[in-house]
Amino acid sequence: MIRFEQVSKAYPGGHHALKNLSFNIGKGEMIFIAGHSGAGKSTVLKLISGIIKPSGGRVWLNKQDLGTLNDNQLGFLRQHIGIVFQDHKILFDRNVLQNVLLPLRIIGYNGRQAEHRARAAIEKVGLGGRELADPVTLSGGEQQRLCIARAVVHQPSLLIADEPSANLDRAYALDIMELFKTFHEAGTTVMVAAHDESLMADYGHRIIRLQQGSLYA
Ligand code: ADP
Ligand code: ADP
Repeated sequence: MIRFEQVSKAYPGGHHALKNLSFNIGKGEMIFIAGHSGAGKSTVLKLISGIIKPSGGRVWLNKQDLGTLNDNQLGFLRQHIGIVFQDHKILFDRNVLQNVLLPLRIIGYNGRQAEHRARAAIEKVGLGGRELADPVTLSGGEQQRLCIARAVVHQPSLLIADEPSANLDRAYALDIMELFKTFHEAGTTVMVAAHDESLMADYGHRIIRLQQGSLYA
C-alpha cells in the first residue's frame, strides 16, 4: 500500500530530515514508527499524506507516485486517509459533534446520514454522551479520542497518527494504542509514530525505527 523508495527530505536551510529511506507497508498492516524527537517520524507521515514532497526518491501510495500528482489528485487521495495530528487541531469554538462532522462536510457529506456517522465514530472512541460537550471540558485523553473520531469518521483505509499519546499518562496512552488496534482489526491500515517504544512492545507489530533520518535495527 505504501512504498518508500530511496526517499530523502531536505528542509529549507538544508537540514536533511530523511536520507535514502526505503520500506514497504502492506494493506491492512499495523505499523509503528519509533525514534527520538527529530528522527524524522513526522516527516515520514507528512510525506505519506502528501502534505510535503520528497527532495529525492519516490513515495508510493496505492500504486501512485505521490510526486506525480497535482493538488486535486492529492486531495482526492487524502479522502481515504485519516490523520491524527500531533497538535490536535481541535476547533474549540464548536462542540464535539461539530468537530467530528467537519471532515464529512469537507467531502460534501451532510444531513442526517452524516450526523449518524459522526455519532457512530464518537461512540466508537468511547465519547458517547459527550456529543454536545465543549472540547475544553474534555480531559487530555478525551481530546485525543475526539481527534481519533474525527480522523476515522469518513472511514479511511489508512489511519495515520503522530505521537497520539505524547502528553498522556501511561495508562491513558495504552488505552489510545488499544483504540488504534480496534481500527486495525476492522481492516484499516494503521501507522502510529511515537518516541516511546515501550508503548509498542506488547503488540507484536512491525516497528520501523528511525535514527537521524535513516533506518536502524
Ligand atoms: P520527529 O517527528 O521524529 O520528531 P521530524 O520529522 O519532525 O522528526 O523532524 C526531523 C528533522 O527535520 C528534525 O531535525 C527537525 O528539526 C527537522 N524539521 C522538521 N520540519 C522542519 C521544517 N519545516 N523546517 C526545517 N526543519 C524541519
Ligand atoms: P515534530 O518534530 O514532532 O513534528 P516539532 O515541535 O519539532 O514536532 O515541530 C513542530 C512543527 O515545526 C512541525 O510542523 C515541523 O515540521 C516544524 N519544524 C520542526 N523543526 C523545525 C525546524 N528546525 N525549522 C522549522 N520548522 C520546524
